[in-house]
Amino acid sequence: MKYLDEFSDPDLARALLDQIHEATTGQWALMEVCGGQTHSIIRHGIDQLLPDGIEMIHGPGCPVCVTPLAVIDKALEIARRPEVIFCSFGDMLRVPGSRDDLFTIKSQGGDVRVVYSPLDALRIAQDEPEREVVFFGIGFETTAPANAMAVHQARRLGVGNFSLLVSHVLVPPAIEAIMESPSCRVQGFLAAGHVCSVMGTSEYPPLAQRYQVPIVVTGFEPLDLLEGIRRTVVQLEEGRHEVENAYPRAVPAEGNPAAKAMLEDVFEVTDRTWRGIGEIPRSGWRLSPRYADFDAERRFSVEGIDTAESAICRSGEVLQGLIKPPQCEAFGRECTPRNPLGATMVSSEGACAAYYAYRRLDLVEAG
Ligand code: SF4
Repeated sequence: MKYLDEFSDPDLARALLDQIHEATTGQWALMEVCGGQTHSIIRHGIDQLLPDGIEMIHGPGCPVCVTPLAVIDKALEIARRPEVIFCSFGDMLRVPGSRDDLFTIKSQGGDVRVVYSPLDALRIAQDEPEREVVFFGIGFETTAPANAMAVHQARRLGVGNFSLLVSHVLVPPAIEAIMESPSCRVQGFLAAGHVCSVMGTSEYPPLAQRYQVPIVVTGFEPLDLLEGIRRTVVQLEEGRHEVENAYPRAVPAEGNPAAKAMLEDVFEVTDRTWRGIGEIPRSGWRLSPRYADFDAERRFSVEGIDTAESAICRSGEVLQGLIKPPQCEAFGRECTPRNPLGATMVSSEGACAAYYAYRRLDLVEAG
């Protein structure tokens, strides 16, 4: 398949690995920010092929995992209401709230529907004007343009029974928070190519300068990741800390101007709490006052929700790269994809799910 097969070529992968081994003399800790990159690294065993001096730390870039518990509980509260059709991408349905998940609400009679696009939810709202249709709009800069477009269209078309429960998060403030943490060990970043395909690369040079870390934008296929790692290691070995684009087939420096204009129209920057991490200033988007009528939180007045995290889940430490999933005592025991205690075991981009799916059970079996 074009753009997949040629980026998994074993001979080219071996050549890149040889270059990485040749270039590495020091001990380097690199963070891949995005959960999609984490899955690719674990699935292809890339971390196990790298020199001993290179450690891959898995970052907080799984949108499902970092959606605050309070927002999940609000989603559950809204989805319970008889007048509501609650629409979501499928990977949110099993994310545990304080007590339930969306699947439970559905099994109890709630009208919870999986859609492939927020525009599908908008269409449902047009088809069923007597119902309230809510779309669960979460994610990083990648999913935000489609959500913005749905709200923009709802206003343009006068679809008053559509609203968005929104909890968007932004990558650059997360990198800043990671680097400001006293426990931070990260010396270089692989930035997420799909985020940069929307936003461009201009937000990263100030971070690379301030924290003296190389930031290499890269993709998700094995060769993309190996090239990103190679460039990051070469910079570290040479004492450089620059932003490089190793994913030019998808990322123009300026990003996607049309998507950025839509985002600017519909959203405004806000402080955001990240599940397992805490509040990061100016790290999210919410609907701007122009679109406040489409804000599901306002429309359904879901306030005063008491949240309660699992007492044994260590997903906060996983998301900050402080532990690897098998270091959580519950990994593969009390916590499995069938019985997840934390969002990182549910999501298709969660680190715990990646280690479980690709049989990284060695620490459990040794325990
Ligand atoms: S293995 Fe389960 S309990 Fe442990 S950190 Fe991951 S999601 Fe939480």
